[in-house]
Amino acid sequence: MKIEIAERLKKLPPYLFARIDQLIEEEKKKGKEIISLGIGDPDLPTPSYIVEALKKAVEDPARHHYPSYQGAAEFRETVATWFQERFGVEISPEKEVLALIGSKEGIGHIPLALVNPGDLVLVPDPGYPVYQGGTILAGGEVFPMPLKKENGFLPALEDIPPDVAKKAKIMFLNYPNNPTSATAEKEFFQQVVDFAKKYGIVVCHDAAYSEVTYDGYRAPSFLQVPGAREVGIEFHSLSKTFNMTGWRIGFAVGNAEIISALGRVKSNLDSGVFEAIQWAAMRALASGGVDEETLDIYRERRDLLVKGLQRLGLEVKAPRATFYLWVEVPAGFTSEEFVLYILQKTGVVITPGSGFGEFGEGYIRISFTISTQKIEEVLSRWEHLSLGKK
Ligand SMILES: *Cc1c(COP(=O)(O)O)cnc(C)c1O
Repeated sequence: MKIEIAERLKKLPPYLFARIDQLIEEEKKKGKEIISLGIGDPDLPTPSYIVEALKKAVEDPARHHYPSYQGAAEFRETVATWFQERFGVEISPEKEVLALIGSKEGIGHIPLALVNPGDLVLVPDPGYPVYQGGTILAGGEVFPMPLKKENGFLPALEDIPPDVAKKAKIMFLNYPNNPTSATAEKEFFQQVVDFAKKYGIVVCHDAAYSEVTYDGYRAPSFLQVPGAREVGIEFHSLSKTFNMTGWRIGFAVGNAEIISALGRVKSNLDSGVFEAIQWAAMRALASGGVDEETLDIYRERRDLLVKGLQRLGLEVKAPRATFYLWVEVPAGFTSEEFVLYILQKTGVVITPGSGFGEFGEGYIRISFTISTQKIEEVLSRWEHLSLGKK
């Protein structure tokens, strides 16, 4: 029998890293030791106090049942307390918090709650691919918002045509940003709230990197801005903050009606987050929310990498958030050409900006989720390339 897949699957964009993956395999076969600066997954282990909390919780039979799809009351209380302490924003644990199986799950499902077939969704470009994927699976259409250097990698709201804004149901935003590592201030969020109110657009702010910041910078929450709760929700994740990518837990906070609509989608698709994991996450959030030791390690790597790349002639600035460098490709290369060149010459994997959208062309993303020792090795492999001069 010929299996005929659904139109919505055919509409998903092709997997852009296929050629790079194939080349990585070829280089490996040649016996080259490949070093990857392409990974958006912390290399460090989950802090042991969180692992211990899981062990304790998993031994309690009370944690073995179907969880509530909203998240346990205790978990939602802990989130509300953390939010109050971290951002000074009061959140109702009953109505304004929803546990997620990782924030990706909520981001991917939110269009099913809000978008009708043919509706537009405003998506940052370059951006995390799930905004686009979730939109397409819900039958919506993506309208890209270019993130350009001259605007500090914030979308230019005035460039969104009014007829597009009128048809848009959701605007996705993500600060601190993956892949550009840009940050946004409350003034920008205020402009977004005004724009969203004017056109009736729901704002979904992805704050996955809100706690991965350096040099005294503290990222604001979208919900700190007056009026934000009327128009939107914010997605939070424990993955990047606590090295918990494999655990699959995050949460959404904000507008009660949007939270409830997303909860209705979820109650039809999944049965919530394993309670032992919720209990471990509660322990993590109760610790205050940041792991200074991990941040110190990232900062050291960032500085080593930035200095090394500057020495090689690349124009790079140290970002004050995330674990990515967003770097312009030297003249004469496309993003993909440059990535393939680096891979073949030096056995180092980096991510082409074009994989995050059309407006990522001309950039590469370099992750510092590897040890300083490996970063030194990368820099020495790159020593003979005249990166800034080609
Ligand atoms: C990693 C990441 C997420 C997803 O994290 P979860 O593990 O699903 O919580 C969401 N948004 C961005 C921009 C990310 O980089």
